[in-house]
This record gives sequence, C-alpha cells and structure tokens, in this order.
Amino acid sequence: MGMQPVLEIKGLWVNYETEEEIVHAVNGIDLTMYGGESLGLVGETGAGKTTTCLSIMQLVPDPPGLITDGEILFKGEDMMLNTDKRNEEIRGNGISMIFQDPMTALNPVVTIGEQLSEVVRTHQKVSKAEAKQKVIEALEVVGVKRDRYDDYPHQFSGGMKQRVVITMALLCQPELLIADEPTTALDVTIQAQVLELIRTLQSESGTSLLLITHDLGVVAETCDKVAIMYAGEIVEFGSVDEVFRNTLHPYTKGLFDSIPKMTGPCERLTPIEGLPPNPADLPKGCCFSPRCKYKMEICEREKPGTRGEGHTAKCYLV
Ligand code: SF4
Repeated sequence: MGMQPVLEIKGLWVNYETEEEIVHAVNGIDLTMYGGESLGLVGETGAGKTTTCLSIMQLVPDPPGLITDGEILFKGEDMMLNTDKRNEEIRGNGISMIFQDPMTALNPVVTIGEQLSEVVRTHQKVSKAEAKQKVIEALEVVGVKRDRYDDYPHQFSGGMKQRVVITMALLCQPELLIADEPTTALDVTIQAQVLELIRTLQSESGTSLLLITHDLGVVAETCDKVAIMYAGEIVEFGSVDEVFRNTLHPYTKGLFDSIPKMTGPCERLTPIEGLPPNPADLPKGCCFSPRCKYKMEICEREKPGTRGEGHTAKCYLV
C-alpha cells in the first residue's frame, strides 16, 4: 500500500517505575493501521492494552509511567516530539476515545444536548441552531429520540449513555477512534447493539477503529484485523480470518480453547494453565514459555522475534 498509515507504533516500550520496582507494561510493540481499518487489540487484564492506548494518546501518567523507547506516528507526525498543545489538538480532532465507563466522558450537570452541541461548535463553524440540528440528527442515527435532547446523563440507561458517548466521539469526525472495552459495562443484548452501531458508523465515516477488548467474539464481529497481546508484547497479528482459521501462537490457541463455542457439542473448556508472568519480573526468553506446552530449550534462553509475513507470531514454531 502506498498510502500513509493513520497510525504507526514503532518499537514502543513503556514502564511504570516506582522506588520498589519497575513494571514492564509494554515491551517493544510495532503496529500499523491504515485509513478505514478496524483492528482489535486483544488480551487479558494487565497485558498492556490500555497502556498502549494511553501511549497513543500521549496520556500515560508520568510519573510513574515512562515511555522508554519507540515512536508513535499519527499520520506521519511523531506524537512524542509534538508540543503538548499540538497533541491536545490531535486528541480533539484527529483521535477520539470511547472508554468503558461512559460517565468519564459526560458532564453530569449539563444536558446531553448542550454537551453534544458544544462538541459540534468546537469543530465546525456553525450557529447554535445549526449545531442543535446536527446533534438531533446524530442522536437519531444512534437511536436516541429528539425529545431526550434536554435530558441529563443520569436520566439515561447505561446503554443509552454509551450511545451518547459514541455520538460525541463521532461528532469530532476523528480519523482514529479508540474504543477501550466499550461494551464491557453493558448487558449482553445491549452489547451487541452498541457494537453493531460502532461498526456501522465506523464503516460509513471511513474512520479507523482501534478496539481494545478481552473478548475474541467481539473482535470477530467488529474487526478486520487482530493483534493478540500478552505480557506487553504482540504475540500474534493478522487478519481476523487468518488468525481465527490458522492460529499460530500457542497463547492464541489457548485463548480459543478457553472460550465457549457457539456451535457443536458442549465440550469442556480448557483454561490456559498457570498465570501471566509478573510484569516486574518477566521471563528471559519467550514471555509465554512458563505456560507453554510446546516449550523447547531455546524458548527459555532467547526471545523469539516476530516471524511470518502478513500473518505473524512471536514463536519459534512459526
Ligand atoms: Fe511456546 Fe516456545 Fe513458541 Fe514461546 S516460542 S510460544 S515457549 S513454543
């Protein structure tokens, strides 16, 4: 592709450093996203997904957080070399984020309509009446009726609030939308609706979507590509099709074996044995070696590099 990527992460390393210990949260990840793509970043709690997002946004709390190496390019612009002011602009216009808890994005004492109109007016030169009209139209797209314009956030259910937050993120017309577990706090039926909504709006607007989740099912329904994160590394990457059909990394295989299948007989689930490594004391070789049933002698001695092309994995078996 001759196109410039929307996002390029190159060799990113992030620590949380305190007097007692150094937590290695992100350990040398590379990731490239092109316009209109949707990428699922999958991993368990503590795998480094949220730190990756915060790094993209340049919002890693410092201290104790410290980006020790790497580059984060948004449309070719290095966010780490930018002034704070420039990054604020990018966070307002180029990159939007949807969090797990919609209330982090909403002001409880301002009506939904006013908050969204404010967003429109900071991004577009329009009158108050025009802004209101745009907000009403946008809310109708996500299934919120116009008579709720003057309601306050607490008058909305969780699912409805998340719809409002999605509307808010999309009114900024970002090139990159980051959604961090956007449906985890919602009940299952609402989850599916909200995901469907994100996917539709994303494909219609041509926005790139980075979806953070622990749920492979969510990725299958929403994304084109998937990156599997474990102990701060991307251990497998590829199109959803490839990764689901021709899984390469033993950790990814373990993840598939530990989720219930929709089809076929009810089999016993096999959770991956053992626990993820302590990020303050990572194994020397392959990060998955303490739990891997295919482990070889070299695995504990030397870290495997990224192997394969297009569909890649950090494993000697590839
Ligand atoms: Fe298992 Fe070795 Fe592959 Fe690591 S490199 S996942 S220990 S086989």
